[in-house]
Amino acid sequence: MELFECVGVIHVHSRYSDGGGSVKGIIKAARKAGLDFLILTDHDTLKPRRKWQGWHGDLLLIVDEEVSPWIGNHLLALGIKEAIEAKRALRAQPIIDEVKRQGGLALLAHPFGGKENFLPVRDRPWLDWEADGFDGMEIWSYMYDWVERINLLNLPYYYLHPEEAIEGPHPEALRKWDELGKERRVVGIAGLDAHGKRVPFLPFIQILPYEYLFKTLRNHLLLTEPLDRSSAERSIQLIYEAIGEGRCFVGYDLLADSSGFSFRCEMEGEEVVMGEEREFKGRATLIVSSPFPARIRLLRDGEEMCRRVGTELRWEATEPGVYRVELYLGEKPWVFSNPIYLRGRPEASP
Ligand SMILES: [Zn+2]
Ligand SMILES: [Zn+2]
Repeated sequence: MELFECVGVIHVHSRYSDGGGSVKGIIKAARKAGLDFLILTDHDTLKPRRKWQGWHGDLLLIVDEEVSPWIGNHLLALGIKEAIEAKRALRAQPIIDEVKRQGGLALLAHPFGGKENFLPVRDRPWLDWEADGFDGMEIWSYMYDWVERINLLNLPYYYLHPEEAIEGPHPEALRKWDELGKERRVVGIAGLDAHGKRVPFLPFIQILPYEYLFKTLRNHLLLTEPLDRSSAERSIQLIYEAIGEGRCFVGYDLLADSSGFSFRCEMEGEEVVMGEEREFKGRATLIVSSPFPARIRLLRDGEEMCRRVGTELRWEATEPGVYRVELYLGEKPWVFSNPIYLRGRPEASP
């Protein structure tokens, strides 16, 4: 099956909620950064959709919502038709159910928010792990990754060198993701949580400007058809399908453009791509290909199976499991694939 890669960012706030930038400015920054798509997710509103959703030159702007209960359990609701108002919700399940009722995708935002810190960024983790039926989760939240290391003393340094503060997905997020994947497909995405905030009384200082962020943590989607410049609606559908099916990977492209990375599996002459679930047939070849030499780690159920430095890795799987790949450039995390799920035959009941 031929797949078409497109690159974009997810989880951006504008002045329609608590972001510092206009949608117009965000579009400009995204086009400069060379993105194919951007998913704007203002808190508790779909208001910008009517005016802004669609093609802006080469950029497809998609307007969705971050449902933001005040206690936590923030949820990116993609493709919903009406805004979901859940400010005072204490439970996550009804919100997930409502997203699914509206035919949308429910993705947990910054599930392991981070510690309370001195910046006015509240810890808003996912609280309700009892809730089920969501489609995926942010395995890497740029803002929370950055903010976790900030204090009053090092702020000026990390303001000037944000890349020094970035360490990769929260280890708890990866652990949880691997655990959930044993039961069912849970899609892993990267969220920027871009706010483009300016410092009060010092408005010339912008913390993590949009244009900078749009060059950092990106989602690479593998579409079944190329984006259609003549139909925003069709293109948005293709993007939602790729995200919903986990046909995507996360690239920290500030280090190097990860376009062209691939992780696939050959099993009895059939090709399996990221996000797919298949019954394991006793033997399968997992194939990783990287656009640049990198340290490649192949994991099964969260455990490292093998590693090597180079542009390709092939590995014969002899056991079922949830297989995924991580790539590093030096010590820096670079690429995180979605898993290929090779499921064992269910135990025959006696
Ligand atoms: Zn949030
Ligand atoms: Zn947010």
